[in-house]
Amino acid sequence: MFAATSFKGKSVAVFGLARSGISCAQSLIAGGAKVFAWDDSEPAVEKARAEGIMITNLHTVDFKRLDSLVLSPGVPFTHPEPHWTVVKAKQAGIEIIGDTEIFAREVQGSGAKIVAITGTNGKSTTTALIGHVLRSAGLDVDVGGNIGLAVFNLRPPAGKRIYVLELSSFQIDLMPGLKPDVGILTNLTPDHLDRHGSMEHYAEVKARIFAKIQKGDTALVGVDDEWCEAIAARNSLITPVSVLRVLDNGLSAPDGILRDGTIEIDLRAMPALKGRHNWQNACMAYGAARALDVSVDAIAQAMKSFPGLAHRMQQIATFKGVPFINDSKATNADAAEKALASFDQIYWIAGGIAKSGGIEPLQPYFSKLKKVYLIGAAAAEFAEVLRGKVDYVMADTLENAVQMAAQDATPDAVVLLSPACASFDQYKNFEVRGDAFVSLVAQLPGVQMANGG
Ligand code: ADP
Repeated sequence: MFAATSFKGKSVAVFGLARSGISCAQSLIAGGAKVFAWDDSEPAVEKARAEGIMITNLHTVDFKRLDSLVLSPGVPFTHPEPHWTVVKAKQAGIEIIGDTEIFAREVQGSGAKIVAITGTNGKSTTTALIGHVLRSAGLDVDVGGNIGLAVFNLRPPAGKRIYVLELSSFQIDLMPGLKPDVGILTNLTPDHLDRHGSMEHYAEVKARIFAKIQKGDTALVGVDDEWCEAIAARNSLITPVSVLRVLDNGLSAPDGILRDGTIEIDLRAMPALKGRHNWQNACMAYGAARALDVSVDAIAQAMKSFPGLAHRMQQIATFKGVPFINDSKATNADAAEKALASFDQIYWIAGGIAKSGGIEPLQPYFSKLKKVYLIGAAAAEFAEVLRGKVDYVMADTLENAVQMAAQDATPDAVVLLSPACASFDQYKNFEVRGDAFVSLVAQLPGVQMANGG
């Protein structure tokens, strides 16, 4: 935690005392602000108190006496309806911002730079990949925001430091001053619409990452969906990125060869960047690293050694020549589709709590499935869809599925956990499910675990 000095002498309400709220309140206090911290949840209040933060019931505070309201990104700002603190702040006419806005103000003028990444999908992978590439090139890099550490738990701004920040739409909504040196929007598909009201509003919030860009800044947008295409078309400073077609005036990789003018990098050689969706992430990382003067060779080398993120199409082991892939993060058919598209022959472990539509949309990939091991609550529903088309078995538990798949699989195929389902029927979350998969695979006799597995 470091002191946020730009609010010295100011009166600031901090609402939402989870991880980022607590470290933000501590930073403001350390920087000389008068902080009024509160949360609607009693356990959160107690936890903050235990961390030494003075608690003030914001219901009793006249917001006209305050300079700012710092809102946790998890608290409704506009939809389904503004939180009561938002209503009070608006009535008092004070600014409503997030911890990431305060952080950005601290960075301004320090010489440090911000690479900001947003989008519906691929944020974490792109953020981690950029962090890896920049670090491999010897740059002074910190990675955080919506991934890993909250911003005030990063190291303080310093001359040549580069912050690679994953930003959710909720965080951007609370960053009126956002002006990244490199801004990245990966893609836009309907998501979180309960919190944004409409796709139009969601896209408008995401596009604000570019609201303040100027000549000399770098802006990268994946133009393969209509929403991002429209955003890129509105601003000539934006570099378009496509993994569907070759672009003359941008970055592209429709066939796995990243192209930037006459420069080419073969992404198919990168073990942790399999699949078209990862080629999009790789193009973004390339664009960011080039903007920060990393050489093409250094980028290509670093991409090769990228270990990938846990639970996202991560090769965790090889058993009798068969790669075992952990894609537990695939909690819906859309995400599982990315994995199914990335391999040719698949022993597929799927199931859990199905999302609406189930695995119907995955029918085009059924010919790749050598056998399916169904687990959890969705097993019967998925079996209906597979019946007569694909060989399947009701494995019920992940443990059975791993045992059966290990027996059946042949080295020309992969064993893939990509459940297309939420995990809550059998596991606390997708991370716990993925970890369980890893430890079950680790018990197979003679298995070779990979780095990170
Ligand atoms: P986020 O942080 O935006 O949730 P992740 O990098 O954690 O994204 O990836 C989550 C899942 O989304 C991956 O397992 C994969 O299925 C899918 N995905 C990753 N990158 C992309 C992309 N560029 N386009 C579409 N889907 C993607």
